[in-house]
Amino acid sequence: MFQLTPEQLQFQSTLRTFVAREITPFVNEWDEAETFPRELYRKVAAIGLLGLGYPEHLGGTEVDLTWRLLASAELARAGSGGLLASLFSHNIGLPPIVASGGEAMQRRVVPRVLAGEAIAALAVTEPGAGSDVAALATRARRDGNDYVIDGEKVFITSGMRADFLTVAVRTGGAGAGGLSLLLVEGDRPGLARTPLKKMGWWMSDTAHLRFDGCRVPVQNLIGEEDRGFAAIMENFNGERLLLAAGSWAFAQVCFDEALQWARDRRTFGAPLIARVAVRPGVASRGRPHRRRLGGRGGNAEESRHAGTAVVRRPGGADPGRHGLHARHTRGAHLPRSEGDDDRRRGRRSHEGTGGASAGAMSDKKIGRRGP
Ligand SMILES: Cc1cc2nc3c(=O)[nH]c(=O)nc-3n(C[C@H](O)[C@H](O)[C@H](O)COP(=O)(O)OP(=O)(O)OC[C@H]3O[C@@H](n4cnc5c(N)ncnc54)[C@H](O)[C@@H]3O)c2cc1C
Repeated sequence: MFQLTPEQLQFQSTLRTFVAREITPFVNEWDEAETFPRELYRKVAAIGLLGLGYPEHLGGTEVDLTWRLLASAELARAGSGGLLASLFSHNIGLPPIVASGGEAMQRRVVPRVLAGEAIAALAVTEPGAGSDVAALATRARRDGNDYVIDGEKVFITSGMRADFLTVAVRTGGAGAGGLSLLLVEGDRPGLARTPLKKMGWWMSDTAHLRFDGCRVPVQNLIGEEDRGFAAIMENFNGERLLLAAGSWAFAQVCFDEALQWARDRRTFGAPLIARVAVRPGVASRGRPHRRRLGGRGGNAEESRHAGTAVVRRPGGADPGRHGLHARHTRGAHLPRSEGDDDRRRGRRSHEGTGGASAGAMSDKKIGRRGP
């Protein structure tokens, strides 16, 4: 357990207000639209979110990783993993440029991305190489002062919108020793991008990229030729930690929503939380709350969520919590009409489980994309 500093608590409070006002009310709409406004990058940049942990001379704020973890935890309260993935894709696209890109490249790319004016992405994965990065096949051959890239990438977050892509390519022989990283601008001729449909993370921009004789100048090499594998592995370290923090934060959000539902939902004249079959489970799962970011006494909100709070209703208004809870009613807003019945037919039935409204939300997704 660790305590947040006064500055971090202030930042947390700013973020919480921002998320409740600018994000939570819109996440369902954005998920349905399978995108979110590009303007959001500028808005989060304006409150300092994009620059966390980056050098000041490139427009960042030099703070430790705790701040980024804190940001992930607060944005998770909006309940959309896809939003986090796309909004923060620069945190996997930029680090190799900051670590070993040339100064001119850094100045051209990094400040614009941290200001929310441009979007950065990382393109490593290929149809034939995911975990096994050393097997990737996208080739870049030298031709005069250019590299010419041929190959394809898949599952690339921010792939459609990215202005700058950090792309893993094979410049040398087989295996880990022949890989390099190249900066590819999104508007380069020879780069074709296709959006991918996904089971989840709908609002996240995820793309298939095809490189057909795509030329970039040799100045776009990031670091040394054929030394890219180590840089990619190094980059994964930060990504894994942030993904772990995000998973933890979303588990917390799921618990908070389940707890609120157990308090609000009444069956046979009493709230679910009063049932002996429900209450012990909720209480035991609530224990990790005491270890949540900020620890004991972090702020009033943290204390209120602590394990013992499961038998009490929250006293004050909390836009973030209300926003989350509002999503339970998403299915209930559907019109009670023939069209509604048609929509329901394609879904698994949750009727009779006491979770019809929450179930409708997930069923909608299952019905639309499921086998
Ligand atoms: C929504 C989404 C967004 C993504 N965004 C990006 C992005 O921005 N940039 C990017 O480059 N990639 C991205 N990816 C790709 C992601 O990094 C890969 O999916 C991941 O690396 C796994 O690769 P794979 O899917 O080819 O699985 P595989 O490598 O084929 O692995 C399949 C399964 O086998 C397991 N496995 C593999 N090898 C072993 C082994 N030796 N021992 C035991 N188990 C093993 C894996 O853990 C996995 O469960 C994204 C993927 C998704 C779904």
